[in-house]
Amino acid sequence: MSKQYLGLDVAPADTAFGLMANFAADDHPKKVSLLAGAYRDEQGNPWVLPSVREAKKRLSEATHEYLGIAGSPGFVKLAKELIFGPISSKLQGNAASIQTVSGTGANHVAATFLAKHLRPSQVFIPSPTWINHKSIWQMAGVPIVEYPYYSSSTKEIDMDGMLHSLEQAKPNDVVIVQACAHNPTGVDLSPAQWKQVAELVQRKKLFTVFDSAYQGFATGDVDGDAWAVRHFAEAVLASETHPGFCVAQSFSKNFGLYGERVGALHLVVPQSLSAEGAQSELSLIARAEYSNPPRYGASIVEAVLGDQALRLQWKADLDTMSSRIHRMRNMLRQKLEDETGQDWSHVGKQIGMFSYTGLTAMHVVRLREEYHIYLLPSGRVSICGLNESNIDYVAQAIGQVLRES
Ligand code: PLP
Repeated sequence: MSKQYLGLDVAPADTAFGLMANFAADDHPKKVSLLAGAYRDEQGNPWVLPSVREAKKRLSEATHEYLGIAGSPGFVKLAKELIFGPISSKLQGNAASIQTVSGTGANHVAATFLAKHLRPSQVFIPSPTWINHKSIWQMAGVPIVEYPYYSSSTKEIDMDGMLHSLEQAKPNDVVIVQACAHNPTGVDLSPAQWKQVAELVQRKKLFTVFDSAYQGFATGDVDGDAWAVRHFAEAVLASETHPGFCVAQSFSKNFGLYGERVGALHLVVPQSLSAEGAQSELSLIARAEYSNPPRYGASIVEAVLGDQALRLQWKADLDTMSSRIHRMRNMLRQKLEDETGQDWSHVGKQIGMFSYTGLTAMHVVRLREEYHIYLLPSGRVSICGLNESNIDYVAQAIGQVLRES
């Protein structure tokens, strides 16, 4: 075979997207996909939120002009208010915000900005975490340290391991955390645990990046899901010495706007400093990378959040999605306990779209090859793929595979 251009080896295909392609090609009548981080209704179909449907009608005459480099000012203001709540108005001169190409783009712009200007010696990412955190920070050229987050023996947060690891960080190092509904474990820090992390990062002068991809989707409560972010914002306002933090905000899940790429990045700098220079630098990065962010999805979010009636409808839509997931989660727990006689309470306690089942990579292969049930090798299940028609089949297959292993 000829040598590769520039010596570039063929990279392995993305695991999740590769398995999704295999699922699409599988013609077994009982196949079930528990892969995608995207909501499905009771019939297993993608769901356009009624609030979004109505906003789209109102936007039917909208133009397709370019947005500004930092995006739509109306959207950015509403996005900032959604994540920071009442504290938003207090974060004026010391906050910089731009619209981004969804949550991934927000994470990427944050990494580019911080790698260049904060110059961390290392970035600390949770183990495990959303797979792209590693790729994004590798691209930014910052050495990565994985801090313990989840203990597979207790199926809870490994708080001692996490704090011990973060204690090794140096000033200006970056710590990635997920604001709520941790992907892939579904296990979040309690407010008391968040306070311990907040104390540590402030004392050690570490810079926190909140990845907020599930606000409102996790529990139906947009304010409750933003508790940790707001706690950090209050800490910045309360102390001259707080190093600041940022939030990469995605609207993919909570508005069902996956393919429209709607997001924002909010950078909160120490209270005594102005964020004006940082704001212009974020715009320079955006200009060089994609010039300006996509208009359509952001205009939908702006229309919904900016209208009282549509906003109420959106809250009801969040409730529809989070309640269905909650119901399926509890059904899965019950059926697995009936099927195996074992304790599956962790599945019931976890939060958000995913469940970290504890199934091994070998179990996952057998479920796929023998039952045409697809999940990630880590044992992560997207609860959204379950419904009343397939949940018995899934629970029975898991029971069978466990009995035979
Ligand atoms: N962050 C986390 C933790 C996620 O789970 C996801 C998507 O699955 C994202 C960020 C980015 O999503 P998007 O780029 O679609 O907004």
